[in-house]
Amino acid sequence: MDVASGGRMLPRRHVLVANGRVTAVSATPLQASSGALTVDGPGVLARGFVDTHVHGRGGLDVMRPGDVEALSLELLSQGVTGFLPTVVAAPANELAAALSAASGDPLGARVLGIHAEGPFLSPDQPGMFPPDAFRGYDRALWRDMQSEAASPIRLMTVAAERLTPTQIDELRADGVTLSLGHTNATFDQALAAFDAGVTRVTHAYNAMRGFHHRAPGAVGALLDRGDIDAELILDGLHVARAPARILAATRTTGRMVLVSDSVPPAARSPGDYVWAGRRLRVDGDSIRLTTGRLAGSALTLAAAVRRAVDWLDISPAAALHMASEAPRASIGLDPGGLRTGVAADLVLLDPQLHPRMTIVDGAVRWRRNDEQRCANAASGAD
Ligand SMILES: [Zn+2]
Repeated sequence: MDVASGGRMLPRRHVLVANGRVTAVSATPLQASSGALTVDGPGVLARGFVDTHVHGRGGLDVMRPGDVEALSLELLSQGVTGFLPTVVAAPANELAAALSAASGDPLGARVLGIHAEGPFLSPDQPGMFPPDAFRGYDRALWRDMQSEAASPIRLMTVAAERLTPTQIDELRADGVTLSLGHTNATFDQALAAFDAGVTRVTHAYNAMRGFHHRAPGAVGALLDRGDIDAELILDGLHVARAPARILAATRTTGRMVLVSDSVPPAARSPGDYVWAGRRLRVDGDSIRLTTGRLAGSALTLAAAVRRAVDWLDISPAAALHMASEAPRASIGLDPGGLRTGVAADLVLLDPQLHPRMTIVDGAVRWRRNDEQRCANAASGAD
């Protein structure tokens, strides 16, 4: 089994897990002691995927109280070990209900916090969302959101051109990572936002002012600033191959954050569904408003990793880095590679990068149906 760590592949390693932690990564076979788990191949072992932008899937909706629990179980089959349930701008009572119910199942992927995609967004760049629930910055509303949330709001998408540097400072002091998105910021406004402390961009290229060679827009500012973390929806529909490659050429893999942005109708049979007050048409990987506008994705992080290898001409280890370690670092969580001491939140993939097994907190929580024995709990483990 190979181990993907820090964007590099360590060949033929053996990994031992105990008490929820990785206790050894070794080139020589390891003997598991009582209560420990030996993880062996074939395939590739990586730190588990972290989806920092996910609204739902298979009918499950982060905005519907109770669904985050089921979603945390559903995401295990994608190799996701942690995620930020992503709430959208909505009337205050609906937003409060969603925030207060955003906790996962104890046997599912971890809820690492909440991503609030709004409500301080620009009505000029609504994407698929009806902009009536978008608001100017409102400190009291933000405080309410924070106190209602079942787990901390760790990430917030903001149209930063609508905030002053002082307001950006206030939010950062509350411990939230700010991501520029649903924004009409010009190039200069976007750069000013980065200088004021916005460190991330939400779904690069989508729902923001595009690139013109004399007016480079928010997209130009992102391309000019390789130190900013860039979310990318690599479903083959939201961004064409060349802009994805151009974005990747402007920064290290550690600044490329693959997200699913999957929405509740994802993975459902073809037909019409309603989400966020809009009618959505599902046809395989395509989810669109009836106008044809894209409305979130049906992507999984594992599929995004595979497309990253293909489209960006990068190694599997580099692509895995974008789905596991880069997202963690972008929200201030335990960055770095798969090494002794990290939490045993792991994904084992086959050589084609399809998940075979998902381990959370040192326990196997999902295993592909055809899987026989790829992990051996030491006999008598207790
Ligand atoms: Zn979204």
